[in-house]
Amino acid sequence: MALKLPRGTQDILPGEVEKWQFIETVARDLCEKFQYKEIRTPIFEHTEVFTKGVGDTTDIVQKEMYTFEDRGGRSLTLRPEGTASAVRSFVEHKMFGYPNQPVKLFYMGPMFRYERPQAGRYRQFVQFGVEALGSKDPAIDAEVIALAMSIYQSLGLKKLKLIINSLGDKDSRNAHREALINHFSPRIEEFCGDCQSRLEKNPLRILDCKKDRDHELMATAPSILQYLNEDSKKYFDKVQQYLTNLGIDFEVDPNLVRGLDYYNQTAFEIMSDAEGFGAITTLCGGGRYNGLVEESGGPETPGIGFALSIERCLAALNAEGIELPVTQGIDCFLASLGEAAKDYTVKLLHELRKGGFSAERDYLDRKIKAQLKTADRLQAKYVAVLGDDELQENKINLKDMESGNQIEVPLDTFLEEFSAIYKKGR
Ligand code: ATP
Ligand code: MG
Repeated sequence: MALKLPRGTQDILPGEVEKWQFIETVARDLCEKFQYKEIRTPIFEHTEVFTKGVGDTTDIVQKEMYTFEDRGGRSLTLRPEGTASAVRSFVEHKMFGYPNQPVKLFYMGPMFRYERPQAGRYRQFVQFGVEALGSKDPAIDAEVIALAMSIYQSLGLKKLKLIINSLGDKDSRNAHREALINHFSPRIEEFCGDCQSRLEKNPLRILDCKKDRDHELMATAPSILQYLNEDSKKYFDKVQQYLTNLGIDFEVDPNLVRGLDYYNQTAFEIMSDAEGFGAITTLCGGGRYNGLVEESGGPETPGIGFALSIERCLAALNAEGIELPVTQGIDCFLASLGEAAKDYTVKLLHELRKGGFSAERDYLDRKIKAQLKTADRLQAKYVAVLGDDELQENKINLKDMESGNQIEVPLDTFLEEFSAIYKKGR
């Protein structure tokens, strides 16, 4: 029986992979402009990195981790997200001592979650994310949000909705926590088992429940915004003011609580508003996690970041009918006629490539007509045809496929001639 790939994973094949590369390049380029530097951490970590870093009460830790014992009896976990690893690395390498603060990092790579696969939800997916560690200036919150928005906007997405909320600082959260417990506990038996166990551990997470989201107590739950203390309120106002100054539209949604335990102050999500996007509309999620570095054994260090997946980004592009400009074609196709000419193209092709051009030839001994068809399929900008006679006479026929113009070019200086013609033509 033929083997199949595991549920919730996908092969990204040539023809499709170019879109991924395009999005990755857009994200990388913007990180260069915003001055976020790439960090690459291992695909697996000690399991505690996530149980501590992501939080025991989260869906990720409770239900979604790929955890295994290695041959040495250590418990390891395939990374389900990027922040915990980045923070582990930040502490391990004492980045808090770097002269340049805040430390601004980005990562990109596969994440693994044992989820029920459906549109926009995979078991292996690629996340791009950033973390800014070491500043609690609300301007950095605005910067991080602006970077996420810029990525989508650079790709041409228009139907975006940014929602933000404040989860407050510790004091605000504690006051709100009490209010939530009082609100839900009289009728908690009407909620799912998860919510019942969340009530004492982390009642905020009840608001994020997917099963009970339509329960009437959800709509009337006390809003965190009523419990923000002066500092938290001021902070949130500043973030909003900066976003407004940047021309970034947003909505405040007091019910936005993110799935991870470590968030405080600013939380945000970017959703797709496109028709037909499907049920899962969140493209990107992020927020502030002051305290996480300390809990991970480092000094008190504020932090903020976001993560988005390329899969949902592609789904949003699809829903808006946006074609990424990825079909480029090759610079030159070398066709040949006759044995000696064919031999000669081996070297000529290599020279073209060394000269910086994308170039291809035939490897299946096809007739000249079929070779030209291949050139068409590869969308060659130029086609050079070399026959045994031309080889004798030290020349080669070059056709500009756009204009249809054909000229003869000396063979021994072909690369220089081609470079000059190519430059002029572009
Ligand atoms: P959801 O509520 O959809 O489960 P989440 O809160 O688990 O999302 P985060 O952990 O915040 O998501 O991850 C950030 C982003 O990563 C999400 O906004 C989404 O774009 C993407 N993402 C999360 N899980 C998956 C998945 N299983 N497949 C594809 N993309 C995902
Ligand atoms: Mg999830």
